[in-house]
Amino acid sequence: MGAPYTGRCNCGAITATISSEPLWVRQCWCRQCQKSAAGSATTNALFMTDDIAIDGELSWFGYTSASGNSIEQGFCGKCGTAITGRNSSRPKASVIRVGFLEESDGLAPTSAIWLDDAPAWAVIDPRLEQFPRQPPVPPKS
Ligand SMILES: [Zn+2]
Ligand SMILES: [Zn+2]
Repeated sequence: MGAPYTGRCNCGAITATISSEPLWVRQCWCRQCQKSAAGSATTNALFMTDDIAIDGELSWFGYTSASGNSIEQGFCGKCGTAITGRNSSRPKASVIRVGFLEESDGLAPTSAIWLDDAPAWAVIDPRLEQFPRQPPVPPKS
């Protein structure tokens, strides 16, 4: 178990290999994530961008988040699989959507964020650290 992690979108146009361990894995229940995840949370693993090698042409969608950061979401333009995300608050790291990765069993989330936006029927694992909104960003190293 562990790196390297490999990913493939539903149609195979985009694949990726990631050579390091994630800095964290968390669920996000914000409204934008519910839309890209078809109703549930996204599950995201944060990696250093330099360790992510993506093969294929990503499509991008950008917006400004409630916290004022600019967010860019990368996905497969052919099959719509959600693949990656960048946030201007952490310029050297990118999230990879855990569902895109073949090794998702080994990438369990340890926290759940934006629970204020989760639907009433959402089931949140009580073992997860829980945040009503965006958790504070740890000091940069
Ligand atoms: Zn695809
Ligand atoms: Zn989100």
